[in-house]
Formats: sequence, C-alpha cells, structure tokens
Amino acid sequence: MKYLRNVATLKLDAERCIGCGVCSTVCPHAVFDIIGKKARIVDKDSCMECGACARNCPACAITVKSGVGCAAGIIAGMLRGTEPACDEGCCG
Ligand code: SF4
Ligand code: SF4
Repeated sequence: MKYLRNVATLKLDAERCIGCGVCSTVCPHAVFDIIGKKARIVDKDSCMECGACARNCPACAITVKSGVGCAAGIIAGMLRGTEPACDEGCCG
C-alpha cells in the first residue's frame, strides 16, 4: 500500500546505523532493507509513520514524527474540502 508521495517524515542517519536489521524486521511495510551492512530506505512512500522503527532502533539512527507530519495536514485539508496543504504546524 502506498501513501501520499514524498510526505513521510521518516529520516535515517546512515552514520549512526550499526546494521542490526531491527528496523527491517519491525516495519510492517518493508520500507527498509539492509544493504552492505547498513539500513537503507527503499520505499519511503510506503511508510505510515507508525514509529516502530525509530522506537526499536538501538542506535537512534531513525527519526519519524509518528502520527503527525505533513500527511496528516494534507489529509485534514482533503477532509475539510479545502485545498490540501501542510498547514497544521507540523513542519515548524
Ligand atoms: S534498527 Fe537502527 S541500527 Fe539497526 S539497522 Fe535499522 S537503522 Fe540501523
Ligand atoms: S514508521 Fe513504521 S511504517 Fe514507517 S518505516 Fe518505520 S516501521 Fe515502517
């Protein structure tokens, strides 16, 4: 399943990553792969910002604003019937 393109707040710090593979294991949408003993984001648009990867990463290499982010702002705009926009204050 794909979500809105290029709006997920997911970020990976490759320098911190120790290649343990936990993020790949816990992610329900196969967003990560382990390539060359480092995690890589291979499908960012499938991220639903659940936060499982960031909470379980032992190296604090992942950040994601779980439950908020631009996707929330854009969807809220759609539901209100107004122009979809990231105006929920989530990017400040
Ligand atoms: S859980 Fe963290 S340290 Fe482990 S592979 Fe993923 S990003 Fe790297
Ligand atoms: S926030 Fe959830 S869906 Fe997104 S990459 Fe992390 S575990 Fe996967």
